Amino acid sequence: MFDIYEIILYIVSRDDDMKSIIEWILNTSFDDLKRGYTFDDESDAYLCLICGRTFNAGHIYPVNNEFLDAPTRMAQHVEQVHHGMIDFLLSMDKKYTGLSDIQISILK
Ligand SMILES: [Zn+2]
Repeated sequence: MFDIYEIILYIVSRDDDMKSIIEWILNTSFDDLKRGYTFDDESDAYLCLICGRTFNAGHIYPVNNEFLDAPTRMAQHVEQVHHGMIDFLLSMDKKYTGLSDIQISILK
């Protein structure tokens, strides 16, 4: 049977990119990871964790006859462009772990 720690060690040992991704995940709050964006104090903007796009706090963004504040616009961006954070994390899983579909189905 697989052990979750063995899997993490396996992933980390495989790929340097994964090390920085794990560091990035550990440095990001769970709430931010779940919603897919964070607030960056330095630039006073909401920052997409996936692509780095920003929307400035206090600005209003017109989208399809609607006027959205920055966090709402950012939530819409994560959903529309990245199909939500869950989708992104699952796709990252495949890209970086090298696990096959069969292995992933066993893990689930
Ligand atoms: Zn993005």
